[in-house]
Amino acid sequence: MLSVVVDKPNSMSLCERPLPEPQTGEVRVRVRYVGICGSDLHIFHGKNPFVTYPRVIGHEFVGQIEAVGDGVNTARMGEMVVVDPVISCGHCHACRIGRQNVCSRLQVIGVHRDGGFSEYACVPAKNAYVIPRNLPLASASIIEPFAVAANVTSRTGVFPSDIALIYGAGPVGLNLLQVLKRVYGIKAFITDHLDERLALALACGATQDEIINTSRETLPEALTQRGVEGGPTLIYDAVCHPSILEEAVRIAAPAGRIGILGFSATPSAIAQQELTKKELSLYASRLNCAMFPTVIDWIERGLVDLSHIITHKVDFHDVASAFHLAESAPRESCKVLLDFGGPSGNAS
Ligand code: MN
Ligand code: ZN
Repeated sequence: MLSVVVDKPNSMSLCERPLPEPQTGEVRVRVRYVGICGSDLHIFHGKNPFVTYPRVIGHEFVGQIEAVGDGVNTARMGEMVVVDPVISCGHCHACRIGRQNVCSRLQVIGVHRDGGFSEYACVPAKNAYVIPRNLPLASASIIEPFAVAANVTSRTGVFPSDIALIYGAGPVGLNLLQVLKRVYGIKAFITDHLDERLALALACGATQDEIINTSRETLPEALTQRGVEGGPTLIYDAVCHPSILEEAVRIAAPAGRIGILGFSATPSAIAQQELTKKELSLYASRLNCAMFPTVIDWIERGLVDLSHIITHKVDFHDVASAFHLAESAPRESCKVLLDFGGPSGNAS
């Protein structure tokens, strides 16, 4: 089989590798689509502290089960599935309190073990979720980044009276927008410096007055002009630059909550006074904690549409140009998928 292998930072190649055999409790998936994530770019550039090389990356993938290991019901053969990349031990403190996405022995598919940038991938059977019957397979590859958005909203909670602000209209910010607008039905502002990304925000349910181009408007004034008194009550940082958290803490309303998703090693300068004075809560969110069933339920109920952010499907042989597109063309691209040529199932 052919796999995209990152041998070391900034070095990637298509390699012929032996077909992996599913171990006990695993299934082998013939991969169709894999999303390219910002974290894949970080691994490629050697900026992920957890990864070991060489590595087949990719954690946002869909395909068809075509072999099962011992202990897995053979009836699962042929299922079209999407894979939750989180593998946990089940015994540590985090696992015991239901926070297995931060398991002390966490294994992330595509980070700690080989992932989906490959014609075939073996994964634990319980990580492979059947995708909704009428959902196009390409859209199903957005379930993982949607679960990331679902996770941070489950961490912060969402009240009907919340006024939300999302920093950044990239894939996660846009997914968050759909969760807030379409699942919870609250007011949600979203910022970006690119009109093209804000146009996607409109497609994802923002109203004209909820989009803010921060290359033309400064944020506190833009919010005041839009009638937000006293600051947003719920803020998400989907840009993940250290300066964002500093501003979020300044502009948040009293009793506000802030969801953070970044992995920057650079400190943010925050005075404790800012937090204490308003009794702000910070919620860090990593990956997702068993949120796939929730996202699949939202899809089946017609609440959310995962197709909006997909801008490109690129044949996996052209992985270098796909990476270039994902990294260097933010006006034309949002979510770029690699197509590994597997079956499209009934849905497609
Ligand atoms: Mn991702
Ligand atoms: Zn654990």
